[in-house]
Amino acid sequence: MAASQLATMLKGGELQAGCFARLNKFVLNTIQNKSIVILLDVAVVGAPTGLVGAPTSYPDGAPLPSATAAALGGPAAPAPARAFAPQHNARPAPAAAPKPPSNFGAAMRGAAAPGGGGAFRSISELNPYQQRFTIKARVTAKGPMRTWNKPTSSGNLFSVDLLDGSGEIRGARRPVAATMFERCGVGNDEQSSPSRFVGGTFFKEVADKVFPLLEEGKVYVFQETSGRLKPSNKQYTSIPHEFEVTFGNVTVEPADDDGAIARIVGDWKKISMFADGGGPREGNVDIVGVIKAAFPAGQITSKRTGQELTKREVVLCDDSGYDVRLTFWGELALRDDAFFEAQPVLAAKGLRVSDFGGVSLSSGFGSQLIFDGQEDPESLRLRAWWTEGGGREAPTVALTGASGGSGAPAAFGDRIVLDDIKGRQLGFGEKPDYVTFKGTLNFVKTDKLWYEACAQEGCQKKVVQNSDGTWHCEKCQATNAECKRRYLMSSTFVDDSAQSWISAFNDHATKIFLGVNADDLAAYKEEVENEDGKFEDYMKQFLFKQYVVKVRVKSEVWQEQSRVKASIVDIFDLDYVAESRDILAALAVMD
Ligand SMILES: [Zn+2]
Repeated sequence: MAASQLATMLKGGELQAGCFARLNKFVLNTIQNKSIVILLDVAVVGAPTGLVGAPTSYPDGAPLPSATAAALGGPAAPAPARAFAPQHNARPAPAAAPKPPSNFGAAMRGAAAPGGGGAFRSISELNPYQQRFTIKARVTAKGPMRTWNKPTSSGNLFSVDLLDGSGEIRGARRPVAATMFERCGVGNDEQSSPSRFVGGTFFKEVADKVFPLLEEGKVYVFQETSGRLKPSNKQYTSIPHEFEVTFGNVTVEPADDDGAIARIVGDWKKISMFADGGGPREGNVDIVGVIKAAFPAGQITSKRTGQELTKREVVLCDDSGYDVRLTFWGELALRDDAFFEAQPVLAAKGLRVSDFGGVSLSSGFGSQLIFDGQEDPESLRLRAWWTEGGGREAPTVALTGASGGSGAPAAFGDRIVLDDIKGRQLGFGEKPDYVTFKGTLNFVKTDKLWYEACAQEGCQKKVVQNSDGTWHCEKCQATNAECKRRYLMSSTFVDDSAQSWISAFNDHATKIFLGVNADDLAAYKEEVENEDGKFEDYMKQFLFKQYVVKVRVKSEVWQEQSRVKASIVDIFDLDYVAESRDILAALAVMD
């Protein structure tokens, strides 16, 4: 029987009667009392020929010759055929058994359970053709018990995320540490590789029975005899597994935690992915960072439910040079100040990303959090960077605006004037200052407006042009035919108190240039290259417009000189009606 992923090979005529095929991956199963080999991954290695020899059907129920049994990872001694199914026997073949031919190696890995010789099916190979399977897995997340009440039915359920060691054994994903350095931006390759994570759901009586047994972070053996696997709904889960399990008749037992299954496995991203407007502003992200600072816990009332919630914001940084705000809720938020002041390393899988304050993160039900993980290589590496590598002293750029930021300009009364930047010595504190002013854009440096950035999705690193005109990205270690220009604009703004140099990154500069992106502007500049002053004239249309601008102000030491740099965090067209109203109100107070 061929699994659905082989349908195209069958339809396309690649896999046809008489051809030679290598079974890279298969499972043996009992379906309606018949032993069936289900092909999961097949490579056609030879064109169709006539039959070789005179093969006959294998008699049902007959014992297998021991050599074949060993090759298939089954018991060496003659055994009833049903011993192969439903659970795959992964006992190693006795030394006396003939060595299976080398091309059976792949099949062995497919059929036998990796992960240290136990008779466990690996999560990466769970598929809808199996109702019976035994897996050994760590519960990395456990959801709350939920109930549903419909006219047609009612009941309760809860879900878990399960992780085993299969991905590591099969090398389906690169080790986490290597991934950190090689990957750039949002990767998508895990969609196609087997996942050692799977989501599982328990219903009704099974849920009642299993719920008290399972604890997050612990390892269990799940022996299932009537499970159902269905395609996972990617809308509701970030787990890359093709299927999710509905447990039916399951026995759950605590298992030894021998460390073979990682405590946390994430698709770790650097915080810098959010810099300069990059990265997602929704969905989930996996990040390892140091809690650099924490704000006091506070209460808010949920707009949706009216419930009082405790929240605590912390500043999470990593060695990419950036930091971002992260919000904890509930019990976690109520932990002692001392816990956060110890600056723990947090490995967090499934943090929610939002555009609040530019970009910010929050932990939720689906998040898996490990503080100061002693077994997680990335946590250990970051801990070393923080304490020994000088990370503690290294400044980071804040990506989350201090006061909400995005969406609405700061209140009229909270603005500064440009002279305050000097006058109030802004930017010299430990943290950057975020201030808002009303000003007029009066100069844009037009000779250098953009940089050439990597065309790779999610990467914004500067690229270098090769002699053949292609572009090389140091970070991606890749050469692309194209580059993508991104604005890095120097400009001055003026108000009635002073004039200041203000820089703008891509998104804000694009806004100032009325939506014309850097690639288009560069093309125009090239087009009018020979027409003296034409480009400069074109750029003048963007000047002398009033804005309400939120800037980040921070002093930076450059060539032993400290200078204050202001860069745009948010920019709004001046709303003249609102502005007039605010001015009148302010004047009224002065009376
Ligand atoms: Zn790149």
